[in-house]
Amino acid sequence: MRVVVAGGSVAGLAAALALAARGHRVDVLEAAPPPPKEPGEWRRAAVPQALHAHTFTSLGTCLLRDRVPELLHELLAAGATLLDLNAAAPRGGPPVADPDLIGLACRRTVFEQVLYRHVTARPGVRVRHGRPVTGVVVDGERVRGVRLGGEEVRADLVVDATGRRGAARGWLAAAGIPLPADRVERSAITSFSRLYRRNSARLPGPLNRGNAAGGIWDGYAAVLHLGDGATFTVALGTLPADRTLGRLRDAEDFTRAAAASPFLGPWLAPGAAEPVSPVHALTCPPNVLRAAAVHPPVAGLYPVGDAAAVTDPIFGRGMSLAFSHAFALAGLLDAHPAVDAAQRAAAGRLAETTLRPWFEHAAAADRSRTAAWTAGTPAAGSPAFGLPGVTAGELAAAAAVDGTVWRTLTRTLMSLDTPQQAFAADALAARVRAALSSRERPPAGART
Ligand SMILES: Cc1cc2nc3c(=O)[nH]c(=O)nc-3n(C[C@H](O)[C@H](O)[C@H](O)COP(=O)(O)OP(=O)(O)OC[C@H]3O[C@@H](n4cnc5c(N)ncnc54)[C@H](O)[C@@H]3O)c2cc1C
Repeated sequence: MRVVVAGGSVAGLAAALALAARGHRVDVLEAAPPPPKEPGEWRRAAVPQALHAHTFTSLGTCLLRDRVPELLHELLAAGATLLDLNAAAPRGGPPVADPDLIGLACRRTVFEQVLYRHVTARPGVRVRHGRPVTGVVVDGERVRGVRLGGEEVRADLVVDATGRRGAARGWLAAAGIPLPADRVERSAITSFSRLYRRNSARLPGPLNRGNAAGGIWDGYAAVLHLGDGATFTVALGTLPADRTLGRLRDAEDFTRAAAASPFLGPWLAPGAAEPVSPVHALTCPPNVLRAAAVHPPVAGLYPVGDAAAVTDPIFGRGMSLAFSHAFALAGLLDAHPAVDAAQRAAAGRLAETTLRPWFEHAAAADRSRTAAWTAGTPAAGSPAFGLPGVTAGELAAAAAVDGTVWRTLTRTLMSLDTPQQAFAADALAARVRAALSSRERPPAGART
């Protein structure tokens, strides 16, 4: 099958990788120039978040381990490291040894550069830059290609990987094809990120969150993610209306505020690390579930990545979901090789099952966090998503003392099990209560 992928960032490259591995011929058309040869501050107007702290959850890391091990090796050779999240499990009870609780420590820019090199070296993939897709060619109920201004590029299948603005809606409207409304739920968070380099090989502090240090606190979030080599990124998140924290744009104020936050002090103590970037600030986009993804109106036009769904970056799921969805979509074409109504319906169902649970979780978590931060009430008092009668603080406190609760919560945070599946069992709520009655003191801050 001949496929055009519009957008050559994480999701577009993941789609190209997955489709080429199944023998499809893939043309990636990317509006922006190619990445620089050297890693570092790779600025792209269309992808401003790429300079912010990024983590690859266990969902994405396991996919690399199991489906593209050679890419994982290249990432490790470039300085990325594999994290064993079990190290953060509570001590005392039976040890937790979940082989899927792994993470990848790597800057987003380095991840993407290695991914780019890997994908462009694959047979069957061609990546062309400076080629913004301006529309789709539709023939009845199926797509036949894309438009680049006045030029047409024919294709059997078109993947929309154009990022959070999701170009498919505009392309379809121009072709006279209406779509139902997207689900949009605001994400009230402004993110400030800064990159640092450690001065010693030893980690200055624990990764209390398994793949990160820090947490979501009352009125703000402060989380540190390990990068490749000795790099790490600190991200501080606040309400956009929080004027005091607007001072975080100042590099020294940022480091001072981060250092005062739980778990981050030792990393930023004098002599422990040096800043290697300015502070990057970004008001995060809303959570979105695109109608073009869950109800594709024509066969052969399928969004992936942020073009299909955007979820609160505080959970760091975007890239993992993009990989998981792109690989599943490529697999779906084996069962539905004909570009027809059955394929279109199957692609819609796939987006529904792969993306909707995470959209719902992110939207609900955003609502309760924003309500607590705005009211100045403890975030830990918000209800835990999917666990009636349990607060986020109680769930976090139980996870700090009970390995089973910890593993269940961590597998959902790492996108391996949806909270809707994992928290459905009554047994978990009972286990949380039992753990709470046996614990001595709740830890500060919520993890959900
Ligand atoms: C502050 C912040 C922090 C985040 N942290 C994390 C994290 O820790 N972990 C995580 O997994 N995710 C994180 N995310 C989400 C993650 O950045 C996105 O999910 C990811 O970038 C989506 O990749 P994408 O390829 O879909 O879109 P993008 O990376 O946005 O790329 C879209 C690409 O499409 C191109 N393009 C656009 N229009 C056209 C067109 N018409 N024709 C051709 N090309 C086009 C653009 O030039 C661009 O290259 C974070 C997001 C934010 C905002």
